[in-house]
Amino acid sequence: GTIGDWLDAAAERFGANDALVLPWQNIRWSWAELRERTDALARGLDSLGLSAGDRVGICAPNCAEWVLTQLATARLGIILVSINPAYRTHELGHALRLSGIRALVTASRFKTSDYLGMLAELAPATAASAPRIFDPALPDLRHVIEIGGTGEGARIAFDSLLLPGDPIRVALDAHQPINIQFTSGTTGAPKGATLSHRNLLHNAAAAAAGMQLGPDDRLCIPVPLYHCFGMVLGVLVCLTSGAAMVFPGQSFEAATVLGCVEDERCTALHGVPTMFLAMLDHPDFAKFDLSTLRTGIAAGAPCPPAMMRRMIDQMNLHDITIGYGMTETSPLSTQTRPGANLETRTDTVGQMLPHFEGRVIDAQGALLPLGQPGEYCSRGPGVMLGYWNQPDATAAAIRDGWMHSGDLATIDEQARVRIVGRIKDMIIRGGENIYPAEIEAFLLGHPDIADVAVFGIPDERLGERVCAWVRARQPIEPDAIVEWCRGRIAHHKVPALVRIVDELPMTVTGKVQKFVMRDAENQRR
Ligand code: ATP
Ligand code: MG
Repeated sequence: GTIGDWLDAAAERFGANDALVLPWQNIRWSWAELRERTDALARGLDSLGLSAGDRVGICAPNCAEWVLTQLATARLGIILVSINPAYRTHELGHALRLSGIRALVTASRFKTSDYLGMLAELAPATAASAPRIFDPALPDLRHVIEIGGTGEGARIAFDSLLLPGDPIRVALDAHQPINIQFTSGTTGAPKGATLSHRNLLHNAAAAAAGMQLGPDDRLCIPVPLYHCFGMVLGVLVCLTSGAAMVFPGQSFEAATVLGCVEDERCTALHGVPTMFLAMLDHPDFAKFDLSTLRTGIAAGAPCPPAMMRRMIDQMNLHDITIGYGMTETSPLSTQTRPGANLETRTDTVGQMLPHFEGRVIDAQGALLPLGQPGEYCSRGPGVMLGYWNQPDATAAAIRDGWMHSGDLATIDEQARVRIVGRIKDMIIRGGENIYPAEIEAFLLGHPDIADVAVFGIPDERLGERVCAWVRARQPIEPDAIVEWCRGRIAHHKVPALVRIVDELPMTVTGKVQKFVMRDAENQRR
C-alpha cells in the first residue's frame, strides 16, 4: 500500500486514539482528526496545481505542520524534499536547485535561521509582493508556504491551505518516489537519497514490529523530522502500529524531553546516543518519573555498553533496541531483537530486518568469511531508488541491488552484525588497522571524560597516528589521559595527541564530524 492507504487504515482502526501530540503547540489530534487535516492540506496543495511527481521542499523544525505536509504530499504522490533547518543560504540553494523544488514550506524564524531572508538572498523575487513567484535564480520555485504566516507578499499562509471538502484520492504506485532525504553530511557534502512509499513503509512496519509497538504505546520523538529517524522511525512507525506520536519540542532539549516523557506517560523513546547521554547527565535527571518507558530505538552512531547499561537501569528502557542503518536504506537495515541480552545488544547492531540481506566484502568486492571485517552491504525493500540526479554516485553505491554502506562490519554465526567503524575513519598506523570506535569506547571508561572522538592525523613516519579530541567533565591534562591509556590498551592504540575541547563538531543529527576535526588539526600543522 501507500502512505495514504495506511493513514486510512489507522483512521478506521484507531480513530479516536491520540495520533499526534505536541504539548507546546497545544495539539492533541486523534487519528481521525489527523486524516481530516491531512486531506484538507492535500486539497490546498492540489489547488496550487501541485501533483504527483512534483517536488515540494520543507525546511522547518519539528512541528505539526511538518507531519501534515509529510502525509498530504504522500497522499498526492508529491515528492517531499526534507531540508535540514540548520542549513544556511548556500546549502538551502543547493537543496532547492538539486531537486527543482516547486513549492517550499518554511517557517519565518527558528532560532538563528531566517529562512525568508536566505530565500530573498538566493532569489530576490521571492520577497516581492507579486501573487506568483518567479525568479530566474530558482526557476522551478513558484510558491513559498509559510508556517505561522499570515500571507504577506507573495507568501502563502500555511493555514490558508487547509481547505475543507471531499478528500482527493489519486491512484498511486507504491514504488514511485515519495521523498528525497539528505544524508547527514558526516563524511562530506550531504547526498539526496530518493525513497519510495514501499521503501519507507517496509522499514517503518519492520521497526515497529522490532519494538513490539501497538496502539497502546506512546512514542516520544525528540529526533528531527527532516531526517529518516524522525519521519520514518517516528511518524511512519506510529502510522503502521497505531502508537501515538509525541513531539516534545521543535528541537532536542534534554530536560524538555524528560518532562514530556513523564507528562505524556510515554512508553517508547528514540534518540541518538548523544541525546541519551545528555538526558542521563542532566542535573535534574533524578527528578523525572520515567517508569512508563519500555522501548525505543537508539541509532545513528555507536552506543557504548556503559551508556546502554545506564539507559536500562536508570531510564527503564529495558527493551530498547539498537538500530543500524543509513538514509539510503530508509533507514534501518539491522535491529536488535526484543529480549536480546545486554551483551549482544551493546556489541552488535542486531540482525537484518525481515526481507533484508546483509554481507561483508573486501576492497576488491569478494565475499568475506563470517567474522572478518569488511564493507557492509545490504539488499532489500529499504534500499533507495538512487541518489536524486546523481547517476554516477548511484551506480557506485548500488551494485546488483546491494547498497554499499562505507561502513566496516563483521557478521557472526547468528547473523548478528557488528559495526567496526567507517571505512573513511579507519586509522592505518604503520600498516596496522586501528578502529576509532574501540578506542572511543575505552576512553569513555575514564571518569573525567564526558565525550570523545578518535581519528587519524597524518604522520610522516607511520602514515597516520591516533588523535583524540576530548570533552572533559572537569579540568584534566592531556598528558594524564595518555598516561592512563598506557598499559591498559595496546601501545599503537594509545593516542599520540589528546586535545581537550569544549564541544565536538556535530551534525544536527548528533554525529561527530571527524573531517572537521581532521581539517582543524591539519591547519595547526
Ligand atoms: P554522509 O553519508 O553524508 O557522510 P551519514 O552517513 O552520517 O552522512 P546517515 O545516513 O544519517 O548519514 O547515517 C548513516 C551512517 O550512520 C551509517 O553509514 C553508519 O556509519 C552510522 N550509523 C548508523 N547507525 C549506527 C549504529 N547503530 N552504530 C554505528 N554506526 C551507525
Ligand atoms: Mg553515509
